Amino acid sequence: MNNPFRPAEIVEMLKLRGEAQQQLFAEARCKRAEVWGDRIVLRGVVEITNLCKVNCEYCPMRRDNTKSNDTYLMTVPQIMEAVEAIKEAGIKVVFFQAGEIPQTTKIVTALIPQIRELFDNDVEILLNLGNKPHQDYALFKALGANTYIIKHETSDPDLHLKIRHETLDERLSYMRDLLELGFKVGTGTIIGLPGQTIESIAQDLLLGQTLGVHMMSASAFVPAPNTPMDHLPNGSLETTLNYIAISRIMNPEWLIPSVSALEKVSKDGQLMGLEAGANVMTVNFTPDYSLQKYLIYGKDRYIVKRNHVETLLGQVGLRTFPEHWYDYLAAR
Ligand code: SF4
Repeated sequence: MNNPFRPAEIVEMLKLRGEAQQQLFAEARCKRAEVWGDRIVLRGVVEITNLCKVNCEYCPMRRDNTKSNDTYLMTVPQIMEAVEAIKEAGIKVVFFQAGEIPQTTKIVTALIPQIRELFDNDVEILLNLGNKPHQDYALFKALGANTYIIKHETSDPDLHLKIRHETLDERLSYMRDLLELGFKVGTGTIIGLPGQTIESIAQDLLLGQTLGVHMMSASAFVPAPNTPMDHLPNGSLETTLNYIAISRIMNPEWLIPSVSALEKVSKDGQLMGLEAGANVMTVNFTPDYSLQKYLIYGKDRYIVKRNHVETLLGQVGLRTFPEHWYDYLAAR
């Protein structure tokens, strides 16, 4: 797909504030309505482990913290119990999120057929399990996983290496593998990393478009305790909202979540995300015994529950999708 904007235009849009910013959001809402009407995608997430072999500078679940963290790895029966709660809530997107460890392959491989049976195949299985060998991804796909989130976080190769300790090229090679296997793939960026320029944020958007991903997310950086970045300020809410809006205008068919980090950096942050053009919300179904151990940006995170989502949707006049979003797009 051609990119409708030049980098300099995106930079200007990222900087908009006041009335011009409100016009940007209004245009994004228009684009969302053109494709999606008043529907949004609702996901139910289970965070299946806080163990991780990667050492991202911003994350409290980083490898260096493993010894001091209260670690957990949910079992297949425990996870299925949470999946049953997702089904009972009428949500048809089962989303597994976890730190990057090889053990999740075996667990998720056991889960996928059970979930398909439970939902009588009327389910989207969305995974966010990090980098895996090709045969693992292929197995997930063959068993019936549909979608995969693997965020590039920043398109600046030097910054990427500095904060994630792996190269951007390596990360993108996993993303390309998933795309070639036929997954619907999501990427995303963190706004407000130290040393990140507004020009590189514009490149984040263009990279997603060039790769041909299906989902794009933006999260304001939240400094987490017990990390090398714990002393840094929050990322800009305004720039993050503009990123959401530009994503929507650039590619109206993208799934774009209004993430919990927005609520963490500002009261009503997720409401603002929806008003900037987002079309995905995620309800947390991680059981209480694990919930406070999944240190996505520290213990003090915002946990999204169903009633919060219902309230927000009522405020902005949106509803959840009755069918699967990819079937809906294919039939348009
Ligand atoms: S951000 Fe993800 S990959 Fe990086 S340390 Fe945290 S859990 Fe691991």
